Amino acid sequence: MDRKTDVTIVGSGPAGITATIYLKRALIDVVLLDKYVPGGKVNFTAEIENYPGFNKISGPDLAGKFFEQIQNFGVEVTYGDVLDIEKKADQFKVITDDGTITSKFVIFATGTDERKMNIPGEDEFKGKGVSYCAVCDGSFYKGESVAVVGGGNSALQEALYLSGFVKKVFLVHRRQGFRADELLVKKVKSTSNIELVLDSVTLAVEGKELVSGLRVKNAITGEEKLLPVKAVFPYIGQIPATKGLSKLQVLDEHGYVIVDENMETKVDNLFGAGDVVKKNLRQIVTATNDGAIAAIEITHRSL
Ligand SMILES: Cc1cc2nc3c(=O)[nH]c(=O)nc-3n(C[C@H](O)[C@H](O)[C@H](O)COP(=O)(O)OP(=O)(O)OC[C@H]3O[C@@H](n4cnc5c(N)ncnc54)[C@H](O)[C@@H]3O)c2cc1C
Repeated sequence: MDRKTDVTIVGSGPAGITATIYLKRALIDVVLLDKYVPGGKVNFTAEIENYPGFNKISGPDLAGKFFEQIQNFGVEVTYGDVLDIEKKADQFKVITDDGTITSKFVIFATGTDERKMNIPGEDEFKGKGVSYCAVCDGSFYKGESVAVVGGGNSALQEALYLSGFVKKVFLVHRRQGFRADELLVKKVKSTSNIELVLDSVTLAVEGKELVSGLRVKNAITGEEKLLPVKAVFPYIGQIPATKGLSKLQVLDEHGYVIVDENMETKVDNLFGAGDVVKKNLRQIVTATNDGAIAAIEITHRSL
């Protein structure tokens, strides 16, 4: 696949999808690339209650609606894992595992990857009880006990989702207080089959062929215990997914893409949008905001 287009959009999450909608409405040609399914992280979220227009919608349903909307413009997602981006003269070459796309503009909207616990057993039991996606794998554990690790909105949301059909959720958090919306904290605290395991760090995922427990240690008392769980769902934060940007030097010290108010990096015509950029709030609404701003700026420059 070697193609030429006006704008290459890397990542078909809310940021990339919104940029596509705005650009197609301006009759600008785009290639929308993703290495996985359209919709990005929204696909892996059980329920969304803070996206305007929907009181409550499941992540996969919202992702489906995003996809439907770009299909109305005749856009298909092109499969490709972006490995590198080069700029020569005024053209970018976006190099994927399946060919190269040449374009004058690039919008980089690759989101983030889940931060790992980095404890023994985590890699060994991935797919055998360790999962970073409750909405994908949770139903395998109906009637069983599971652990969710983390203290932010994602951890609490997914713990509540799992509590609807598992026997028990141990919610393991390294502090006493949560960094999550008060509404979620209240719901979690009043859910009878969620047991809080606070001030606790994870030590190891244990099992034979499949997970049979999560070893944790109370950071204050030093007491260790083995939580009898069949699955562990870590939600302890994100790391920016910036493979492909190494040559362009547009990242801050934490690896996020630095952009200006038009979502442009210091490299002319290279834009960042969504969770991958340096910002304070990583949500669907802020990702769609970024995609729209980048697309409108490109539209103005293309007139
Ligand atoms: C469990 C969980 C629950 C959440 N709940 C909510 C919520 O209730 N409300 C809310 O507003 N937000 C929620 N969020 C956050 C929200 O999902 C993100 O803010 C949003 O999806 C960011 O959109 P994005 O387009 O920047 O990136 P993403 O949605 O992460 O999409 C990035 C896309 O880029 C692709 N990609 C990455 N690297 C490459 C590459 N090298 N080549 C090609 N493609 C690549 C990925 O496959 C992905 O499809 C939640 C997140 C999680 C993890």
